[in-house]
Amino acid sequence: MTYSPNFVPEGGNVSHPAITLGAGVPFQDLYKFADMNNVTIVGGYAQTIAASGGWVMGGGHSILSPVFGLGVDRVLQFRIVTPDGQIRVVNEFQNPDLFWALRGGGGGTFGVVLESTMLVEPQMKLQVASIHFTQTRQNAGPFLEILVEQALKWSREGWGGHMSPSGLINVNPLLTLEQAKQSMQPAVDFALSQNGTVVIEELPSWQTFFSKYVLAAESAIGAPTILGTRLIPAQNFASDDGKASLVKIFTTMFNEFNTSINAILGTPFLFNSTEGATSVTPAWRKSIWHLGFHGVWTYNATVEDIRSQYELVSNINQMLRDITPGSGAYFNEGDVHEPAHEQSFWGDNYPALLEIKRKYDPYGLLDCWQCVGWKGPEDERYACYL
Ligand SMILES: Cc1cc2nc3c(=O)[nH]c(=O)nc-3n(C[C@H](O)[C@H](O)[C@H](O)COP(=O)(O)OP(=O)(O)OC[C@H]3O[C@@H](n4cnc5c(N)ncnc54)[C@H](O)[C@@H]3O)c2cc1C
Repeated sequence: MTYSPNFVPEGGNVSHPAITLGAGVPFQDLYKFADMNNVTIVGGYAQTIAASGGWVMGGGHSILSPVFGLGVDRVLQFRIVTPDGQIRVVNEFQNPDLFWALRGGGGGTFGVVLESTMLVEPQMKLQVASIHFTQTRQNAGPFLEILVEQALKWSREGWGGHMSPSGLINVNPLLTLEQAKQSMQPAVDFALSQNGTVVIEELPSWQTFFSKYVLAAESAIGAPTILGTRLIPAQNFASDDGKASLVKIFTTMFNEFNTSINAILGTPFLFNSTEGATSVTPAWRKSIWHLGFHGVWTYNATVEDIRSQYELVSNINQMLRDITPGSGAYFNEGDVHEPAHEQSFWGDNYPALLEIKRKYDPYGLLDCWQCVGWKGPEDERYACYL
């Protein structure tokens, strides 16, 4: 890792404060390094994700993304080996088509990234809201109604975070502590009425937040699980009917299917992006929630048990697709059986991505499930997929 206060992409003439990091650097190390240099790097919510790998190439959401953009919005340069064996510098000025493709087209597709350089922000104070209570069949629905009701307001105020039927951990780089307390009052009142716990505090840096709230709460490892996700547009929260449809689906999810609900405030809602600069689905820019949920099974589950969890995830996702026509899903955390995945993950960017894939990897050396230009589900390497 190298910190450059005045990084100039090769071929350019404007400098930016940035960190250059090798492909193997996980966020835990990167956050510490940024903190030692008094800067903030925008990244994911887990210690082991590799910042220069699949995270950034697939989009890269952070709970700071509502204000500071996705990973793809902040990368300034890649160094990559393309399938023809060439090492290439890829940025706005050199190989710009590949730069665009790497900013959202997905890992494992266009080449092997050796390092990336990412824009950093100054060290920043964060307001943190940590609100929790014991979830019951009775209280989950009313709390989700509060989250849905507050969604647009909180997004306009710059909140990012993770919210579930039993609480939330949100952060805000824009508000004062007093404003943060006022903003979170509806959730606070509800949690206290359920004998829950509430902390609203100001922390001096991202690293302090990450150590206190993320590292301290790492999930158990090794549990078999699959994800489904959907980007929920702001528009769905703008009318009473839209909000009621969301709450109805959530109620079905936790009452009938017993699934978790993870509403992530991690879309670049307030970020002023340059149109067309990245290849993620444009649905990211219109959405305020990246909604995720899990299918789970135990180690001794039968293939049929596992298959039923995949089906459950697909069925729930379909309910969400039905109320969000034209939106999309996050490639890195998508339903394995996402129908019309090209449209869901990349929208109208797919044809151009396919052209770039064919240009840099004409023999299809690199391939992965539902990646741009993949060989399809019949290819023998996917025999392990249900
Ligand atoms: C616990 C957990 C928390 C998560 N939290 C977030 C989050 O907060 N935000 C978010 O956006 N996502 C999150 N994710 C999803 C995450 O972005 C994806 O799992 C992502 O694919 C991880 O990338 P990786 O390189 O670490 O993983 P890997 O599994 O190593 O790689 C994923 C894909 O990228 C390719 N790849 C990896 N390195 C390179 C490289 N150097 N060059 C070319 N291709 C490469 C691989 O071939 C593979 O196809 C989370 C995942 C987990 C497991």
